[in-house]
Amino acid sequence: MFDATKEYALKLDLEDESKKFRDRFYIQNDLIYMDGNSLGMMSIDAETCVNRVLNEWKTLAINGWSDAKIPWFYYAEELAKKMSKFMGTSENEIIIHSSATINLHIGLSIFYKPEGIRSKIIMDELNFPSDIYAVKSHIKSLGYEVEEVLELIKSNDGKTINEDDIINSFTNEIALVILPSVLYRSGQLLNIERITKEAHKKGIYVLFDLCHSAGAFRHELSKWDVDFAFWCGYKYFNNGPGGVASIYINKKHFDRETGLAGWFGYKKESQFDMKLDFVKSKNAGGFQISTPHLLSMAPLEGSLNIFEEAGIDNLRSKSLKLTDYLIFLIEKKLSKFDFTIGTPKEHSRRGGHVALEHDDAIRINEAIKNNNIIPDFRFPNTIRLAPIALYTSFFEVWKVVDIIEKIMMNEEYKKFDDKRSTIA
Ligand SMILES: *Cc1c(COP(=O)(O)O)cnc(C)c1O
Repeated sequence: MFDATKEYALKLDLEDESKKFRDRFYIQNDLIYMDGNSLGMMSIDAETCVNRVLNEWKTLAINGWSDAKIPWFYYAEELAKKMSKFMGTSENEIIIHSSATINLHIGLSIFYKPEGIRSKIIMDELNFPSDIYAVKSHIKSLGYEVEEVLELIKSNDGKTINEDDIINSFTNEIALVILPSVLYRSGQLLNIERITKEAHKKGIYVLFDLCHSAGAFRHELSKWDVDFAFWCGYKYFNNGPGGVASIYINKKHFDRETGLAGWFGYKKESQFDMKLDFVKSKNAGGFQISTPHLLSMAPLEGSLNIFEEAGIDNLRSKSLKLTDYLIFLIEKKLSKFDFTIGTPKEHSRRGGHVALEHDDAIRINEAIKNNNIIPDFRFPNTIRLAPIALYTSFFEVWKVVDIIEKIMMNEEYKKFDDKRSTIA
């Protein structure tokens, strides 16, 4: 259906209805950015909102809490309302809060209640290490042995996790299952609804890490009946480095206690009564801890405005077209150089990036960077390429594969060291 010529790439760009959004981002000349799944690019809209909040601080000082354009006291809740439209939840089931890993700790403090033999946690061995660290430390802090409690589902191919293996592990010894929606390395998308349904049949709670899917496509968290989820804002949601993350908690769990209480989870109307007994807000906001990080939340406001305009389903369609095209070009032009694709091909089983694998990936990745492309390397053999619907063009995708082909033909990668850098 695609064709591998440059003219065809340019034609795809001409026909692309969402290409106008690219102008809202600070695209750097001569640099092709394929790493928006690690850190989304900065938009003019994000910058405008940061500048506004800075200016509110300058001119209103403490009064910004009540008098800012969006009063700071309600900022996390207001942005959560915008966010809920893309995640398929009620407005009060989401709160913009802290960082992803901290939000997982919060989820554990709410849902990990070992009782009798039901004490185990299921995760997978391909999970993002931070999640594993968080869970292990939580288990130890409760006085349990990690080996007795934590069960990691094995991968059969080192890239993907078989959903049946996950579901077959659900027994009455399992208290909790914690999984990523999209695996950060291969880009495999798990069937969140199916896993949740099967877990619930066995009385198991389900927590999802949505870092690699939030902002890539529409979620239906309420419909899927997920218990708890968390995701960072700085990847597909373009919220800036260290930008504030989000929590989703199903409304049926609003009455649960948090093990990590703080005054911003207090019932909002009476937070400033300063009573010593904690009265939790009966919504996702009740699980907040501290004063919201206004300045690293402001870019999200701008970014969510762009998402509202562009429409998340349009972005998913374009993203799939971009990645289909990328996969087509890789198969056509790079398979003769022993590249393989680690990402499942079916649309329903993949997120927003493509994992390009090669035994010499370290050096090839260096050569790609040397050609003004920003890819993303994951040890030992994976180059992740993420064309982002809001700002990557079809021509750029074509150009990236064209450059990799040249790097292989003229063996440019052999000039580089076979050593990895600190951040990768
Ligand atoms: C990026 C990412 C995180 C990030 O965690 P932080 O606490 O924001 O540093 C967590 N989990 C996954 C799967 C990620 O991809």
